[in-house]
Parts: sequence; structure tokens; C-alpha cells
Amino acid sequence: MSEVPEELKIKQKFPNWYDWLKPIKQKDLKHGFASYIALPKQVDSEFFKMPFGDVERDVFSEDWKLPENWKEIILDAFKETLEKNRAFKVFMDICVRCGACADKCHYYIGTGDPKNMPVMRAETVRSVYRYYFTIGGKLFGKWAGARPLDENVIKEWYYYLYQCSLCRRCSLFCPYGIDTAEVVWWARRMLSRIGLNQRFMCISIEASARTGNHLGLYAGGMAGSIEQGLSELKDITGFDLHTYINKPGADVLFVAPSADYFATPHWYVMLGYLLLFNELEERYGLTVTWSTYASEGGNFGTFHSYEAAQLLNSKIYKEAERLGVKFIIGGECGHMWRDKHQFINTMNNPPKHAEWRKFWDDPDLGQISEKLKGINLGEFISGEHGWIHILELVAALIKHKKIDIDPSRNDHWKATYHDPCNVARGMGMLEEPRYVLRNVMNYFYDMPEHCIREKTYCCAAGGGMLAEELMELRMRGVMPRMMALRYVVKKYGVNIMLTPCAIDKAQFPVAVEYWKIPVEIGGPMEMVGNALVLTAFGEKPEDRKYDLRGTPIREEE
Ligand code: SF4
Ligand code: SF4
Repeated sequence: MSEVPEELKIKQKFPNWYDWLKPIKQKDLKHGFASYIALPKQVDSEFFKMPFGDVERDVFSEDWKLPENWKEIILDAFKETLEKNRAFKVFMDICVRCGACADKCHYYIGTGDPKNMPVMRAETVRSVYRYYFTIGGKLFGKWAGARPLDENVIKEWYYYLYQCSLCRRCSLFCPYGIDTAEVVWWARRMLSRIGLNQRFMCISIEASARTGNHLGLYAGGMAGSIEQGLSELKDITGFDLHTYINKPGADVLFVAPSADYFATPHWYVMLGYLLLFNELEERYGLTVTWSTYASEGGNFGTFHSYEAAQLLNSKIYKEAERLGVKFIIGGECGHMWRDKHQFINTMNNPPKHAEWRKFWDDPDLGQISEKLKGINLGEFISGEHGWIHILELVAALIKHKKIDIDPSRNDHWKATYHDPCNVARGMGMLEEPRYVLRNVMNYFYDMPEHCIREKTYCCAAGGGMLAEELMELRMRGVMPRMMALRYVVKKYGVNIMLTPCAIDKAQFPVAVEYWKIPVEIGGPMEMVGNALVLTAFGEKPEDRKYDLRGTPIREEE
């Protein structure tokens, strides 16, 4: 084999550990990778107020206008976190720098920046821990991997902690189970104590606290959008369908990510929800209401801090109590699923309302209709009983043959499925979506094993990374997912990638254009809506002429 010419040799030079301890400087912060800092209107509002949020800061200016005693505040917050959170303390102590996580992060793969290796991302924080909270660090300084806090360290934290989508793929490969996402989450909270909050997520948190949803839609806008959906469905199905909004005593409160109210391709999923709910009410008397107060399933607070997460989580919980529903169904949102399932008990008291309590203890759909008796949602629920994911519900209905399906209505689609990090790795919902898709479609193909189910690659826009100013980072970070997608497009002729996550549905259309992959993006509930035969309304399988996008279902049409 001939020698590789000097100019083509790949030179990857990793600095030694001491050099790594040197923080980046202001001039190293790059456009496309640095998140904007929140403005006072987002973090000094009546609805969402953060300390020192009244100051306008620019991530690209030398002076970040930190409060005078910023160091003391950070160290107090650090101490508090170590005392209150055992996992954080353990994660500070036990990393052996084995490097098993190093190449598992999509941002490292896409950027090649060594500080985007999960181990190094956490080291930016651990090094400070060692310096102030360990004897070795106090005595031996940099020889023990410790470094003191200064403004550049804080800038490095902000820059790299906001190049993490909290996807937790790295933790899957760590022999000690270190969850770098959790380290990032707590350190972001520390930054928020000195006025450093990421702008994109705070726009959404403030809007959701003020109006009920991340987009800041008021009640009329939200309700008008659902009405528009019903009118489109009349054109597609010929039936007059309806829905409920803020209905006390309904069986179910339904919460969806607010992008489903109007964004594309989310909109087709919204149509799928409405079809399902109408069929279930007509056939079994199950009533589903939306809420203009709890009009957002997502929770951007989970990317920011415990307090912000709780603020938004409790809103849905309180609304379910107020309306007196029996349970909550969640729509196609990734982080909603983890937020609601993993944190509901910690952030709220157990349900007080008798109906909800009863269903929580024994989630048998027979409580709603005799005809549904024996369908125990407990078999399908991946988390707490008070909540069920729409795809878990559909899986239960299909398994028990309670809805009629014509998969041939989706024969113009060849689909693959992207596991959202929080749905798959976060909540273990791996098989239900695939079970649903294999039943409602004839052509379904998984991507290669190394990047699906628990090992799924992040869309690179979660955890607050959907910000417009991070486009360069997003398009680089999504590369591993795009390569796997290209493989099934070439091998099987896949023409749509389905995902039950609103952030994915916002990121992937841009990503497939950037990476030049000829494929559409959608959600599983769109395919369910296409295939669902509205038997209760007298519909026959062959009656539907158009899919939810208005495309003719059969070629001759
Ligand atoms: S895999 Fe775990 S122990 Fe190894 S470097 Fe990464 S975080 Fe540290
Ligand atoms: S949580 Fe995800 S984005 Fe963050 S360091 Fe780990 S792999 Fe990278």
C-alpha cells in the first residue's frame, strides 16, 4: 500500500489532561455553537423570575455582567446540590476516565471537538468540584485534575453545558452508569443562580407559565386550531366530528405538544388524535377533553432546573384534578413523557380526586365502558398509572381488537421509526410504537440495531438545542441519525421517518434537507389516523379516498 501523502493524513491531536483543564477564552466561542443568553422579559417576568434576570447579557461580548459575588453564589449552589442530590455527588466522584462514553455523543461525532466528549463535558464541572470540595484537589490542584473558578471557567460551562441535549446516550455505555445529562442539568441550574439562562428554553418556559403552552397561544388560538382540524377532517372523511375543550367530568384529559396545533408535519398527528377520540366516544362513550390551561404536554423546564420543571409539570396535574378526569393521555412529545412519568410523584402529591385515584390504582378501561372491560392499561403503561401515552392506548386497543384498521390505506408509505431519547431510553417505550406501526402499515423497516431502541441517536435538537442560533451544531449533531436513515432509504426505499416527538418533527425536516435525504417526516398517529376505519360512523375500509395530507390513497385515484 502506498504511503498516504502528508497533506491527506488525518492528524488528531488530543491535549493532555493538564491542557484540558485550561478553560476556553471569549474569542473561542463560535457562532452556530453558542446559545444566546435569556433577556429580562423572559426571566424577569411575573410568571418566571430568575435571580439577576433583570440584566441584558450578550454571549459574544467580553463582559457577561455577572453579579459581584457570583463565585460565592456558584459555590453555595454547588454545595447545596452535593448535599441534596446523592447521584450528583456520586457522579462527581466515580468517573475513572475510561473513555467508554467518549465517542457515544452525537455532538462529539459531529463536531470533533474533544470538549464535546461526555467525559470532558462533565470534567468542566468535576474539576471545580475537586478544587473546592475534595482534599486531593485542594492539596494538589491541577495534578489532581482540579482547577479554580474564574470567569472563563463559567463561560466554558455555559458554552459546553448548552451543547448537550440531555439525551443520556453516553450513560448507557458508562460501566458505572454515570449520567452526564444529570450533571449537566444540575450545573445549568447553578448557572441560572447567577443570571445565566439559555434564551430559547426560557422563552418557552415563560410563555408556558403565562399562557399554558410553549408557543404562547391564548385559549382562542388553541381552540380555533382544533376547530380547523375538525373542518379538514370533514373534507377527508365526510363526517361531522367534534371535540371537547375544558369539559369537567370528561373521562380523559388529553395533553399534546403545542406544535401539534399548527406546525407541519405535526398537524397530521393532530388529525389522527381527533379521529381516534371521535371513534372511541361514538363506540364506547369514552370522552376526551383538551384544556386551554394545560395546553402543553412538553416541559422546557426539564432542560433548565428542578424548579422550572415543577412549575410546568404541576399545571397539568392541577388541571386533571380540577376537571375530575379518570386519567391523562399524553400525545406525541418526547420529553413530556419522561417529565410526566418520572417526576409526577416527586413534584406533586398523589391525586386527591376520587375518580382519578380509583383509575390510578386499577387502570381497567371497564370503568369507562362494559365493552372495554378487561383491558387493563397497567399492562401497557411504561410509567405511572395516572398517565398513558397515546401509542400505549392504541397498542392496547389493537391488541384487544377494539378498533378497526385497514393498513392498506398506508400502502403509499414505506416507513422507518426514530426512537426519541426520552421515550425510548428515558421511559423504555420500545415495542409499543413498533407494534402499532406494524399493524397500521404494510411497509415498515427498522434502522440498524446500533442506533435504535435504547441506543437511539438523538435528533440533536432536544434539551433546548432547537434554538435557531445553534443551527451549525444541530446539523453536525444530527449526522449519525441521518446516516442511518440514508441506509434504509437506499436499502428499502423508505419514504417517511416517523417519530412521536415534536422536537424531532421540527428538527428532522431541516436535517433531511441539509443532508439531502429524500424522505418525509411524520408521526405514528398520522398513520393510525389514515388506517383507522370509523366503523362507529358507518365508514367502510374502501370509503377513504385521501390520507391526512390530502394525498390520494390508491394510485388510480
Ligand atoms: S464511561 Fe463513565 S467512567 Fe468512563 S469516562 Fe465516561 S463517564 Fe467516566
Ligand atoms: S447526554 Fe447526550 S448530548 Fe449530553 S453528553 Fe451525553 S450523549 Fe452527549
